[in-house]
Amino acid sequence: MHFTLKNSWWAALAFLLATSCTSKTNNEQTSTGTTAASDTTKYVLVIHGGAGTILKKDMTPEKEAAYTAALTQALQAGYSLLKQGKSSLDAIEATIHVLEDSPLFNAGKGAVFTHDGKNELDASIMDGKTLGAGAVAGVTNVRNPISAARAVMEKSEHVMMVGPGAEKFAKEAGLEIVAPAYFFTESRWEGLQKAIQEDSTKSQLDHDGKTALKMGILNKDNKFGTVGAVALDNRGNLAAGTSTGGMTNKKYGRVGDAPIIGAGTYANNQTVGISCTGWGEFYIRSVVAHDISALMEYKNLSVADASQQVLDKVGKLGGDGGLIALDKNGRVATPFNTEGMYRGTITADGKIEVKIYKE
Ligand code: ASP
Repeated sequence: MHFTLKNSWWAALAFLLATSCTSKTNNEQTSTGTTAASDTTKYVLVIHGGAGTILKKDMTPEKEAAYTAALTQALQAGYSLLKQGKSSLDAIEATIHVLEDSPLFNAGKGAVFTHDGKNELDASIMDGKTLGAGAVAGVTNVRNPISAARAVMEKSEHVMMVGPGAEKFAKEAGLEIVAPAYFFTESRWEGLQKAIQEDSTKSQLDHDGKTALKMGILNKDNKFGTVGAVALDNRGNLAAGTSTGGMTNKKYGRVGDAPIIGAGTYANNQTVGISCTGWGEFYIRSVVAHDISALMEYKNLSVADASQQVLDKVGKLGGDGGLIALDKNGRVATPFNTEGMYRGTITADGKIEVKIYKE
């Protein structure tokens, strides 16, 4: 009798301790007002569909609805896997497939064109649990470059493969190969013509014009549109991925930040998962994604403070864009220094938030 009572006393104490801890952590608020998920059963998924000159005045209600629907569909694809107990890697891959397959975003179908009229795609993925990573750059016929990046991570001893070699590897890994024409969209083609035209006018005006003019970046219709996702699964594992066609009118062979681990993508279970979007050269030079993780690891900064601090550095160098960050406790930050950034979150309870413009 005495023994049973003592046991139930301990059980009650353990229950009280457990519930008081849970309610405390669950009530913490993130920088964006989303409930934090220190409890690892509170999985979350954050996505972006690119940052850039996205102004409400330039949007039609139909366009806005189409972007919102695509972002929502992408969030739901990853969420349904997380809910079944699948890994954060599976969730971000499925999420990014939806965005790559949509012509609305600059990744997979709908990718922007290089100066000589080609689609050269870059992607990367990172596993926060093992610090394993994979990336491909300059691929022209892999339908879903994020899966090629994952294959490099899981089926090779390498981290990054480029061009025809990466394409050969993707085919051998059983991924879907398409004709390069699959990626064509009329609007991106028009975007290239416009960028080339602006580029030549600006070059005539400014003989000193360096990167900005040569990249056609001053074309303010250049809404970047890269895609990315970061997820935290119910085992507390973070994963991040980014996929892009790069920048309109980029030079043949140019590689941006999206496939560079530590610049456009990073994930570490001890700190944070990050996916960036913006003017890639500045993100590479600022080593953005790893810098955020380092500030959190070495300086104990919050995800919101670390992300903002690093984005400010990008801005001071002259770069623009944004990023999504999800820390090991489920706190989210989505800063950007452009007019807008397509972005969204879904929490364990299935609550979806999709945003496009500045708050
Ligand atoms: N960061 C990408 C790149 O420079 C572009 C983007 O985010 O839209 O390739």
